[in-house]
Amino acid sequence: MSHKQTSAETIDEIQKIDIRSKIRQLLETYEATEQMLTPMELAEKVKLELEIEDEDLSNFALIEAGNVLNQSAYEYVRQGDRIVLIPHCLRDAEKCIAPIDDEGYHCQKCGSCIISEITQAAEDRGIKWYMVGGGSHAIQIVKNARPRAVFGIACFDDAKLAVDKIGEYGIPTQAVLLSKAGCVNTEVDFDRVLVKLDIPDSSD
Ligand code: SF4
Repeated sequence: MSHKQTSAETIDEIQKIDIRSKIRQLLETYEATEQMLTPMELAEKVKLELEIEDEDLSNFALIEAGNVLNQSAYEYVRQGDRIVLIPHCLRDAEKCIAPIDDEGYHCQKCGSCIISEITQAAEDRGIKWYMVGGGSHAIQIVKNARPRAVFGIACFDDAKLAVDKIGEYGIPTQAVLLSKAGCVNTEVDFDRVLVKLDIPDSSD
């Protein structure tokens, strides 16, 4: 019984990955052919076309719509003027040795969680990183650090809050949602993080 449930869950997850690719493709198509859509309008068009009612996929479509609409402005910012915001819930809460101050946690790259890989990848590309405690903290960091572009990893609620607020400052954003949300020991698709860290710089 439990094996059947696991198989069904696996199939469901594969289908969701497949439909996420379709959502991204369709968002890019609509963005290229239609003028002046808000993220909500763009996401709604794609949801209608793909008959999406699932809450996770709806949230995904909205965040990805923001990514698509911000992409060009984001590319105009040099890597060194971008920052990445990493949620502290990705830490191994039991083993983490990162000290904390007003700028958030300072990962020591102990290797116990994926943050050591994310921070190293950011540093390799000359992108400053902050490990933050949620949407409000992320906004505070942005106010202090004054970056020209922001890439954030977050759960939907924090991503929506931060993207909306940072957008009001005229700062382009990119976001990757956590693949497993929660308060501790969350997860993110590292390949998607690398895609965002590798967004080309067309500022020259
Ligand atoms: S890699 Fe960094 S964030 Fe992760 S547990 Fe170690 S010190 Fe903490």
